[in-house]
Amino acid sequence: MSEASELDEIAREIRSCTKCRLHMNRTNAVPGEGNPKAEVMFIGEAPGENEDLQGRPFVGAAGKVLTEAIENFLGLKRSDVFITNVVKCRPPNNRDPQDDEILACSPYLDRQIQTIKPKVIVTLGRHSTRYIMEKIGKQFRSILAERGKPIKADLGYGEAVILPTLHPAAGLYNPNLRKYFEEDFRTLARLLGRENDKDKRPSIFDFLNGPRARGKEGNSNVLK
Ligand code: URA
Ligand code: SF4
Repeated sequence: MSEASELDEIAREIRSCTKCRLHMNRTNAVPGEGNPKAEVMFIGEAPGENEDLQGRPFVGAAGKVLTEAIENFLGLKRSDVFITNVVKCRPPNNRDPQDDEILACSPYLDRQIQTIKPKVIVTLGRHSTRYIMEKIGKQFRSILAERGKPIKADLGYGEAVILPTLHPAAGLYNPNLRKYFEEDFRTLARLLGRENDKDKRPSIFDFLNGPRARGKEGNSNVLK
C-alpha cells in the first residue's frame, strides 16, 4: 500500500475509534495531516476546540505559531511536513490527556510514524516528548531540561532524530519562553539543512504584533 493510502486507512480507523473515553465528547477526531513522505513530523498534545470543530490539527492560536514557524521561519509549507498529536480526540476543557488515553491512542501515532518514516520528529511539549523518549528507552525529566537537544534514535526504519521543544502555546502565553522555541527551530533548520542567513529569519512571534511590526525582510504570507 502507498504511504498515502496507509495514512487514509489509519485516519478512517481513528474517526470511528471508541477505544478511550475521549470519543464521547468529540465533534471530529483529528488524525493529522500533511505530506505522506514528510521528512519532518510535528507531534503535539491533543486537539483543542478549533481542531475538534474542524477535524484538523493546529488550526487555532497555537496553530498560528506553529504555522508561522514552519512557513516563515523554516521556509517550508505546512503541506511539506506532517502534523499530528499524541491523542486524536479533544480532552474536555482542554485538560491534559491521561495516561490510559495516551496508551489507548498511541498505536495510531506509532503507525503514522512507521508509515511516514520521518528523518526528524519534533515533539511539541511535554506529553509528546515524554511519550517518544520513553518509547526509545530514555528517561524524560522535564520539557525545559530536554528541549533543544536532538536525540538520535533507531525507530525501526533507520536512524531518525528526535528534537523536543516547547509546545507553541507556551510561547504564546509566556513571552519569556519564546527565545527557547526560536532557538529550537534554529536547531531544526540546521538538522534539515535549511540553515542560511540566520539574521534574515523573521522572529516567529512577530506576527502577534500585526503587519507593521514585521521588518522589511519579513515574509508576510500568513497575514494574507
Ligand atoms: N494543541 C495541540 O497540542 N494540538 C493541536 O492540534 C492544537 C493545539
Ligand atoms: Fe480512539 Fe484516540 Fe480518540 Fe481515544 S483519543 S477515542 S484512542 S482516537
